[in-house]
Amino acid sequence: MNDAELLRYSRHILLPEIGIEGQDKLNAAHALVIGAGGLGSPAALFLAASGVGTVTLCDGDTVDLTNLQRQILHRTASVGLNKVDSARAALAEINPAIQVRTVAERVDEARLAELAAEADVVLDCSDNFDTRYAINRVCSRLRKPLVSGAATRFDGQITVFDLRQPDSPCYHCLYPEHAESAETRCAVMGVFAPLVGVIGSLQAAEALKLLMDVGKPLTGRLLVTDMLGMNWRTLTLVRDAQCPVCQARDAQN
Ligand SMILES: [Zn+2]
Repeated sequence: MNDAELLRYSRHILLPEIGIEGQDKLNAAHALVIGAGGLGSPAALFLAASGVGTVTLCDGDTVDLTNLQRQILHRTASVGLNKVDSARAALAEINPAIQVRTVAERVDEARLAELAAEADVVLDCSDNFDTRYAINRVCSRLRKPLVSGAATRFDGQITVFDLRQPDSPCYHCLYPEHAESAETRCAVMGVFAPLVGVIGSLQAAEALKLLMDVGKPLTGRLLVTDMLGMNWRTLTLVRDAQCPVCQARDAQN
């Protein structure tokens, strides 16, 4: 790191758990963020500000006026632009030293696999179940740590599926896939603005910890909040013995 970088990241470097060694790991790391909306906004902002060397952002939507109430990467002047282009401009203003790669498409599973293969950590900031299941299958197959967040109305949750660990549960263990599962998108539901800020920021926190290998990740724990009552609970997650995604991972051994 040069002098400017030492200064920029000094408040991380001052933390004994991080130091220059941890900051160097972040600078060398690659995070894949799926979704540049409510959750992806704070997640990408904190990853970029923290100096994660490469951030790949993936979103096929354009910025809509209704996004601006909570998607803090985007500005009024960006309405109509691709979300990833709007995001890249915002991230470059905060930290021009990092590389931001953008994918302006709603990716299918094959494309997700290409993108995840190059990443050290994957953040699921998507807004639909099809994408969530596809990200989970890809991360399980490639054994990538997956930081999963969700937020609707006043209710949020976050967990880590560290699929490098053989005994880690996966998203499918938590939510078994049903063909009839309704397509629920926060795009068409109400969502409390700071809720996505909190959950997306927590996703960034877990991703940074995983990249530096510090602290204790949320693996096996689901953190759930109801922001109206401001109640937080931690639920224990275990692998579902019948989970086909985990069984497929086992079969690779
Ligand atoms: Zn599973």
